[in-house]
Amino acid sequence: MARLLLHACCGPCSLEPVRSLMEEGYEPTICWTNPNIAPAAEHELRLTTLLDWARDTAHLDVIIAGDDRAAWERTVAPHGFDRPARCRACYAQRLGEACRVAAAEGFTCISTTLAVSPYQLFETCTEELVRLAGAYGLSPVIRDFRPLYPNATRASRELGMYRQNYCGCRFSAAEAQIERQLARDARKAGRPSGHAG
Ligand code: SF4
Repeated sequence: MARLLLHACCGPCSLEPVRSLMEEGYEPTICWTNPNIAPAAEHELRLTTLLDWARDTAHLDVIIAGDDRAAWERTVAPHGFDRPARCRACYAQRLGEACRVAAAEGFTCISTTLAVSPYQLFETCTEELVRLAGAYGLSPVIRDFRPLYPNATRASRELGMYRQNYCGCRFSAAEAQIERQLARDARKAGRPSGHAG
């Protein structure tokens, strides 16, 4: 089976992609590269949660790749609240770094745990993964893990993992707060509401 590097956005989102890919016969190595996560304490908490789970439960190696916050501020932050453009640039930076590491370390396949969250822009993420994998001569392993998200939620709760309530950047923290307030307002008014993570 080809060597697969799995970009992981956090611990809880890694559970089901790892399980599913291992069922397919892959032996994934995890790659952390998430300079999007703010503030710094939140970044450390998500990384620690991932490392603890990988070491104690999954018994998987983790490669900690570059977390170039200055580059994120230069190339992603200027998109501000234009979410489609911002997230595309964010995926490109993180998946680009994961692909760079994968090629340098002799992996042939690349995938991402971002594909488990229904709150991510799946098509945009897939486009970036395919584009960057091609640029680095890697095979993108594209899987729609989103139907497994409820399992990931349940399993991560059972494991007592830290679970964040926003995607990662400061813009997403503000957006999630607004969404939660709108949902509360809708519930009070007896209206159905959507949800954004
Ligand atoms: S919402 Fe998530 S994917 Fe989009 S820019 Fe922010 S951290 Fe990146």
